Amino acid sequence: MKIDEKIKIFKNEIKIWSKTLQVFPYDVKLERMKQWGYCSADKVIYFNSDLLFKRKELQIYVIVHELLHLKIPNHGKLFQSLMNLHIPNWKDLDKELNSMKEELSPVDSYNNSLR
Ligand SMILES: [Zn+2]
Repeated sequence: MKIDEKIKIFKNEIKIWSKTLQVFPYDVKLERMKQWGYCSADKVIYFNSDLLFKRKELQIYVIVHELLHLKIPNHGKLFQSLMNLHIPNWKDLDKELNSMKEELSPVDSYNNSLR
């Protein structure tokens, strides 16, 4: 699959979950970084570009995780119960992602906005 296609699918998944969760980021970016995802105080969400090469289940977990941070900035009880609701096996997915070695994307950067 071409990278443009992967980005398109990823972008669509963000749209779907944004609607489902009723949270709307100001902007979304794909970047090379150490974390899988990051939600800034000004409501911009950054996703690790390596996610494009992971299976959909893992992508969705990170998407839902970061989108929920627009509502809930911490990982407290409310955050966890919403994660349980939407992604019942999120703890396993989280472990799996954390166990992956830091990899570098084959493409240098996807600084293009996904908005
Ligand atoms: Zn988090």
